[in-house]
Amino acid sequence: MQRILSRALCGKSSLFPRAATQSPFSTLANTDVSVGEDDTVFPKMPPFDYTPPPYTGPSADEIIRKRKDFLSPSIFHFYDDPLNLVDGKMQYLFDEKGRRYLDAFGGIATVSCGHCHPEVVDAIVSQTKRLQHSTILYLNHAIADFAEALASKLPGDLKVVFFTNSGTEANELALLMSRLYTGCHDVISVRNGYHGNAAATMGVTAQSSYKFNVVQTGVHHAQNPDQYRGIFGSVGFKYARDVDEMITYGTSGCVAAFIAEAIQGVGGIMELAPGYLQAVYSTIRKAGGLCIADEVQSGFARTGSHFWGFEAHGVVPDIVTMAKGIGNGIPLGAVVTTPEIAKALAHRSYFNTFGGNPVCTAAGHAVLKVIEKENLQQNAFNVGLHLKQRLDSLKEKYDIIGDVRGRGLMLGVELVTDHQLKTPAKAETVHGMNQMKEMGVLVGKGGFFGNVFRITPPLCFTKEDADFLVDVMDHTASHAISKIAREAPVSYPTKRKTQKVKPKKGPPIPHHAAPAIGGLSLQCWPIWPSNRNICSDHAASISSSGKGMFRREISGGDR
Ligand code: PMP
Repeated sequence: MQRILSRALCGKSSLFPRAATQSPFSTLANTDVSVGEDDTVFPKMPPFDYTPPPYTGPSADEIIRKRKDFLSPSIFHFYDDPLNLVDGKMQYLFDEKGRRYLDAFGGIATVSCGHCHPEVVDAIVSQTKRLQHSTILYLNHAIADFAEALASKLPGDLKVVFFTNSGTEANELALLMSRLYTGCHDVISVRNGYHGNAAATMGVTAQSSYKFNVVQTGVHHAQNPDQYRGIFGSVGFKYARDVDEMITYGTSGCVAAFIAEAIQGVGGIMELAPGYLQAVYSTIRKAGGLCIADEVQSGFARTGSHFWGFEAHGVVPDIVTMAKGIGNGIPLGAVVTTPEIAKALAHRSYFNTFGGNPVCTAAGHAVLKVIEKENLQQNAFNVGLHLKQRLDSLKEKYDIIGDVRGRGLMLGVELVTDHQLKTPAKAETVHGMNQMKEMGVLVGKGGFFGNVFRITPPLCFTKEDADFLVDVMDHTASHAISKIAREAPVSYPTKRKTQKVKPKKGPPIPHHAAPAIGGLSLQCWPIWPSNRNICSDHAASISSSGKGMFRREISGGDR
């Protein structure tokens, strides 16, 4: 029997109680036990009192066929066996068979209050029944009420709101406004950042996976103040010199704007090194430019310590852009700036048919009220702290975890095949995601190399949910280690201090081409095992290949 004692590390008592019976179950939500064929006991999802209605729609196969025939060839899906999600309730999602999953990704940091939060749904339904659309050319209270409430959440003179339909649109508008206001063209953004997929925003985005070969003018991508891989570690002001030099050598001396996320989301939950933003904001302002904070992912209380990500850096931007969490899943974005900067748009007409429509703004207003009423910022802080501490413990236990970072409920776990070389464990990340999904946990994936688990759940996530997530991750890693140890005299990867595979002299060995050790070829050996023994419905189709997540060989994650 293989018993996993993952919490021994944290000094806690037995985590996975042995079940009396082996139980193939139809929904994890209603099942008390999960035991594998080899007596492995699996972590148990916290109970949740909700059963979704039966699903009568098309099968996953049919949906896949329709996607293939009628939707963009550039879309891809997570998981070897893609999930067909049909219901959501708070921090949980349900597939077509009613199986419950803990949503630790939140539709890419978008579901802030919880799936189908009743008060947000009520606001949407009531407004839809009364007036779904008119046009901004007439009066309506929804947009005005929400603009006032939103402005009250921002510091300084940031009180003029422009509504858009997405984050891309918000950033496009912010860049346009900066160029108009300053009369300059050059914009500086940070490498590894993501800001959108339209003309200007694709330009400032600095991840090649998301850049098409079209003209993107006047953009300079500064060195990323990356605390994990960056040459200056966590000393933010040293990275800021690059921005100064870019202005000196690469522009006329005048710039329109600097744009950055406080925590790069798509980039793999990379929090900018402390001191960086303060130094760069000062440099940019000396060159006449405006500072744009892209809060599309880090805004709306997600970081726990603050309502906006930039606040942790002690700066006040000139323009703040937002989307995702603002609407809990409703298409909505916004740009907030000062009255003076806002005037730049008054010389011509900036018109947006749907931006600020009554239904979306009613939803946005309801989101703000729920965040306050349910104290979700404090919850993000408390649960995030607990979750990060537990993830840090896992990092001590497994070599494959190179870094745990982020704040609140915006956390990242970076996987590497070599701690010193920081070799990205790409295939293992995909494989780990598949494994965790089969055990009922959905995390995202990101980072330039696609080797970071992104944890951005709805802000109603509980400590029990956090424990379950970490137990599942721990279980996956523990099982891999024991399985590999069973099958080969040398295990890889292993607990750090005891059994380390030393890199040979010469160039680093790429993780996908590592030599055979002790009869076990390490080539594509999944650190996260192929677990044919998981007995739940969640275990239907774990694959050991770790392949197939992307249709094309692109690095990175998901937006
Ligand atoms: N900025 C950031 C930081 C983002 O993460 C994203 C989307 N992932 C965007 C902008 C673009 O938002 P959207 O997809 O709504 O256009």
